[in-house]
Amino acid sequence: MVKEYKYSDCFYCGGAVAEQLTHREIRWKGKLFIFENVPVGVCTQCGEKVIKPAVAKAIDQLLQEEKKPTKIIQVPVYQYESNIV
Ligand SMILES: [Zn+2]
Repeated sequence: MVKEYKYSDCFYCGGAVAEQLTHREIRWKGKLFIFENVPVGVCTQCGEKVIKPAVAKAIDQLLQEEKKPTKIIQVPVYQYESNIV
C-alpha cells in the first residue's frame, strides 16, 4: 500500500503541491529509461515538480537491480542538419 505523503508547499512560490501520476525520463549509465505512473508532487501554481524520497529510492533500486522492463520502446533519433533551418 502507498502511504499518504504530505508534500510541503512549493519551494519556489509557496503554492500547494498535489500529487499526480506522470512519467519520468531518467538517464542512467548513458541510457534513457522511462518510468510510467510515477507519483510526483506538482505545484498547483507554478508547476514545479517534487519527487518524494521514497519514490526516488524505488526508481534507483529498479535501475540498480536492472529489473526486466515492462516494455521496450524504440525512440527515433534525428541528426539535426543546419540546412533544414
Ligand atoms: Zn510553485
